[in-house]
Amino acid sequence: MINTDGAGVSRRTLFGVTAGAAAAAALVTGAAPAAATPGRRTNDPKATPLTADQAWRKLVAGNDRFVAGRQKHPHESLAWRESLVRGQHPFAVILSCADSRVSPELVFDEGLGDLFVIRAAGEVLDTAVVGSIEYAVEHLSVPLVVVIGHQSCGAVGAAVDLVQHDAELSGDIATLVRAIEPAVRATPANPDPAAFLAACVAEQARRAATYLLERSNIISDAVAHHGVKVVSAAYELETGKVNRV
Ligand SMILES: [Zn+2]
Repeated sequence: MINTDGAGVSRRTLFGVTAGAAAAAALVTGAAPAAATPGRRTNDPKATPLTADQAWRKLVAGNDRFVAGRQKHPHESLAWRESLVRGQHPFAVILSCADSRVSPELVFDEGLGDLFVIRAAGEVLDTAVVGSIEYAVEHLSVPLVVVIGHQSCGAVGAAVDLVQHDAELSGDIATLVRAIEPAVRATPANPDPAAFLAACVAEQARRAATYLLERSNIISDAVAHHGVKVVSAAYELETGKVNRV
């Protein structure tokens, strides 16, 4: 399991994404970043043949159908579902906010087995999230990782409130929101609250994408040697459009 503290519980340690790799590693109790494991990526001939760029274009095409209201709703049939019992070959990893309005399979007009989806409010990274992405990249040979923030994100908005108004937070929500705080502090001031929030959302997505490479030798090795790409994007609630940020 991904537990790093030997306590017998899978504790999920939240990563602030401002720290460099060394400081970040220290945040994970007792854990050094996993060693690079060249040659361990699967070469399953049935695995997706898509390159990272082809995978991105496929996502864009699906998102275009979603925006236009001309979805194909692929890979939802009974026969397809049964075929997936033998294994999965998703072509993209999507790390998106948990927000109910940002469902990746719907936004990209994809179906069962197409996307390896991890969701966490504000795309906050912890050991479980990073480990899940590592699994998809290393063991499922997924060529593309997309971190997607979104318009009017409540988690990022809470971090803005924390920074601007010293808002009180309780429970583990406080830890979550504080993990987003660095992105808010790094975003240039803007008198337009909606524009400022959008800039913070983009900054958080970019930082999460960057931090994945700093944190994970498995992912950085896949990027350096296996053609994997990690990109950041944001979803517009009004239009349904996903744009790179
Ligand atoms: Zn959100």
